[in-house]
Order: sequence, then C-alpha cells, then structure tokens
Amino acid sequence: MSEETIFSKIIRQEIPTPLLYQDELVTAFRDISPRVDSHILIVPNKHIATINDVTSDDELTLGRMITVAKRLAKEEGIDENGYRLIINCNSDGGQEVYHIHMHLLGGQPLGSMLSL
Ligand code: 5GP
Repeated sequence: MSEETIFSKIIRQEIPTPLLYQDELVTAFRDISPRVDSHILIVPNKHIATINDVTSDDELTLGRMITVAKRLAKEEGIDENGYRLIINCNSDGGQEVYHIHMHLLGGQPLGSMLSL
C-alpha cells in the first residue's frame, strides 16, 4: 500500500481542519476546494489508497461511509432536494488523493452525471 496522504494528518488533527463528523471508523470534513455549494469528504480513518485496495475486512467501514453521508446530507439540509456521492479511483477516475474518500455533493442542481 502506498504512503499516507494529507488526509491521515487531517484525521489525526496534525493539520487542524474543522471536522463535521468523526468516529472510530470514518472522518468527514469540507473539501478545501468546493466544486458545489455543499462539498464534503467522508474518509476512512484507516489508510486505504484506492477502491482497488479494499477487502472484505473493510465492509463495515465502507457501509459507515454511506450512513455518515446520509446523516451529513440531512444536517446540511440537502437530503430532500438530493445530492450525489462519488468515489474516484485511479487516474481515469480522476483520483488526486490516494486515500479513499467519498465526495458528498449537493446544495444545487448537479446536472448530468458526467461531462467528458
Ligand atoms: P479526488 O480527486 O482524489 O477524488 O478528490 C480529492 C479532493 O480532496 C479534491 O476535491 C480536493 O479539493 C480535496 N483536497 C485536497 N487536499 C485537501 C486538503 O488538504 N484539505 C481538504 N479539506 N481537502 C483537500
């Protein structure tokens, strides 16, 4: 598995970043460069580089990412209008930070799923 990224330092608060949620499995904080009105990252506390690296041992963590996304969408007030969850993988998927993370995107109409 590759080296830790900046996300591990945020999770451990070695780089102070306001956290929206943290438990024993996942951490959530706002994207530093929001693409839409509400742009949150939900990240496993354990360093996993890409979705290609997950195993069955990670299933609880991956499920927690979804339930935390649901909770944060409600807290953001975007649950009723809707939102999008995205996990990018490797270069064709547009992954920039090699510590898996789910983007929670909403607060405005998001348009079509892809613009290539
Ligand atoms: P990816 O392209 O890997 O799916 O998304 C990485 C995301 O992490 C980008 O949206 C980028 O803006 C965000 N990001 C990168 N570095 C930092 C950081 O130091 N703090 C926060 N809060 N977000 C970051």
